[in-house]
Amino acid sequence: MLSEKMQKQLNDQMNYEIFSGHYYLAMAAYCESIDLSGIANYFLVQQQEEFEHGMKFYHYILERDAEVNFTGMDDPKSDYKNLEEVFTVALGHEKKVTARIHKLMELAIQENDFATQSFLKWFVDEQVEEEAHMLAILKKLNFVGESKHALFMLDRELGQRKAD
Ligand code: MG
Repeated sequence: MLSEKMQKQLNDQMNYEIFSGHYYLAMAAYCESIDLSGIANYFLVQQQEEFEHGMKFYHYILERDAEVNFTGMDDPKSDYKNLEEVFTVALGHEKKVTARIHKLMELAIQENDFATQSFLKWFVDEQVEEEAHMLAILKKLNFVGESKHALFMLDRELGQRKAD
């Protein structure tokens, strides 16, 4: 059985993953507002992924015969100055998610909850990828600089991202 503390923290993370999706939706809307539909698409796909992450927690909590509790969400940040700020904030957000997953893993280890450790391992690996992706795009943005042509190419590249 899940401990009460674990049940609460898994629910918190389920809600946080869904909130992350909301966060990325606001980024998509910003990118669309500055006519970067490809990059907006990138964030729309990211939102779908975050929703799926939330649903992994949802199913896991139910599988362990515990209760799922949805909560309200804070407003996502929506006032961005430029694209660089968007990806800087996105990377910072993913780092926050990573720290939360690590905290959950710490708790699972403390509690000798082997099933939850195994469940969380996927998220530990996923976070390495998430941070690497955001960082890679930030680096590309540095190359882009003031070049409209390079920005156009990056928009086209990120517009090809599809949900898997
Ligand atoms: Mg996630």
